[in-house]
Amino acid sequence: MPFKELGLSDELLLAIKEQGYTTPTPVQAKAIPVVLQGHDILAGAQTGTGKTAGFTLPMLHLMQKSHPERSKNHIIRALVLTPTRELAAQVAESITVYGKHLPLRSTVVFGGVGINPQIAKLKRGVDILVATPGRLLDLVNQGKADLTHVEFFVLDEADRMLDMGFIHDIRKVLKILPKKRQNLLFSATFSEEIKKLASGFLHHPQFVEVARNQTSHQVSQVVYPINKSQKRNLLSKLIKEGEWQQVLVFTKTKHGANRLTKQLESDGIGASAIHGNKSQTARTKALAGFKAGDIRVLVATDIAARGLDIDQLPHVVNYELPNVAEDYVHRIGRTGRAGNTGEALSLVSHDEDKLLKGIERLIKKDIPKVVIEGFERSKEAEEPAPQRPQQQRRRKPDARKKSNPQRRNTQPSRRS
Ligand code: AMP
Repeated sequence: MPFKELGLSDELLLAIKEQGYTTPTPVQAKAIPVVLQGHDILAGAQTGTGKTAGFTLPMLHLMQKSHPERSKNHIIRALVLTPTRELAAQVAESITVYGKHLPLRSTVVFGGVGINPQIAKLKRGVDILVATPGRLLDLVNQGKADLTHVEFFVLDEADRMLDMGFIHDIRKVLKILPKKRQNLLFSATFSEEIKKLASGFLHHPQFVEVARNQTSHQVSQVVYPINKSQKRNLLSKLIKEGEWQQVLVFTKTKHGANRLTKQLESDGIGASAIHGNKSQTARTKALAGFKAGDIRVLVATDIAARGLDIDQLPHVVNYELPNVAEDYVHRIGRTGRAGNTGEALSLVSHDEDKLLKGIERLIKKDIPKVVIEGFERSKEAEEPAPQRPQQQRRRKPDARKKSNPQRRNTQPSRRS
């Protein structure tokens, strides 16, 4: 079905054409007509499926057609909430692209950067606001963002929002919004918590579902069973010998990302790290450098997994598997986007076999295992030495304190 048949305005069709899109992706074909009819939607779609245009295009269409006089005053009529700054920036970029022939203004607000330029933009007036929850509430509390005229509310990547502990902020935002509005909720997964949240604010939603929890068919996946100590060497070899132009590499920890970045650099491979401990300026710079092709390897923790939208990214490497199986799907969704093909490689050490099983269970298939000569896994090198019984008994008094789970901060950190 061509875009023309969806009933979008000429201005939007022109922007779509200029983007080089010829046919709607499945989520767009399903979501656009439903949103145009004014329904709330509950959509199961991960990034890489074209979901941003799936909600942006019909929303822009409706804003253009209904109450065009409101656009003259540039009051906030649409609010898009995202969990991460990167995703917020990306969604805002898409709105600018798709809405370039419309007289609507949009802006993006998120934490980690100065608030004053954001206040200045809001003061000039915007029709569409993209935001992360923390900064949004800050602006609302300061009286700088008026949400009382919102007609469209989009909750993007709702599952990640909950993972990041944003539920209370979401509820606060919902209280401020006018009762009469159209709600669009996107989530890659549907836990009981998401269903509860959805039933609390969606009105007779239409379900739109595209390949939930399924990895993209465009992405070929492979596992390299390997010793932990050999991962770095194999990665450098793959990058150099494969003549990879660009690769996104995922590590489990921020510290691990920094360490691997340094190691790759010392192997003569240009690399940058992106994670939650980096300043927003550093994150934006690394991302821009990677998108521009100046940085060959971007080493990221899962914070970057969902938001990143890089054209033609052919390789994603899981240097370490994520603890949560769904994150694997999000990570590898960074490649093979919108019709392109991609390769997702996972370096899996002995201690990660359980995580791999969990991932294979989730995606309902076995990922092919390939052993590279010279990098074979030796079980002995990976298994922890058996502990002697006396060692277990001789515990320092404060060692127990350290292992008290209540003392550990297990909450996912909130970044906004
Ligand atoms: P998203 O899932 O919204 O992050 O979009 C993933 C990628 O698909 C982005 O790079 C979009 O520019 C691209 N895209 C979205 N819709 C289409 C389409 N209909 N045809 C081709 N590419 C698209």
